[in-house]
Amino acid sequence: MKKEYNYYCPTCSASLNVKNNVVLTVRKENGDSGIVFLDSELGDYTKVNSSSIKLEKGEIVQLFCPVCHKNLLCLPDYNLARLVMKDKDGENLTVLFSVKYGEESTYLMKNDKIHSKFGRHKQEIDFESLSLCK
Ligand SMILES: [Zn+2]
Repeated sequence: MKKEYNYYCPTCSASLNVKNNVVLTVRKENGDSGIVFLDSELGDYTKVNSSSIKLEKGEIVQLFCPVCHKNLLCLPDYNLARLVMKDKDGENLTVLFSVKYGEESTYLMKNDKIHSKFGRHKQEIDFESLSLCK
């Protein structure tokens, strides 16, 4: 059974789900911007797609909330952006994921501690020594 996850902007709390996708604004280094759809299933990167913009593997992009336009980058040293996720029990979790296109690394945080990691490029990051952006 497919789990349902709901994603929210950490700043304005807007819901970012459209069906099974998370919709974000993306901006490339060259200034091109568009909309990107991420699969809301954690660790499933097969359906990441972008309708209006062409992304190259390995490209580092800026991701923004489509509602309040806040940059979602949270840990620049690791190219990780942040979203809030509400699980089926209604508990708020923090999701950190790579903004490097094609890099599969996602981290799920619960109470500021690492809860689980997804993706074949996941790294050993000592999150407890880092202060996450709020
Ligand atoms: Zn927002």
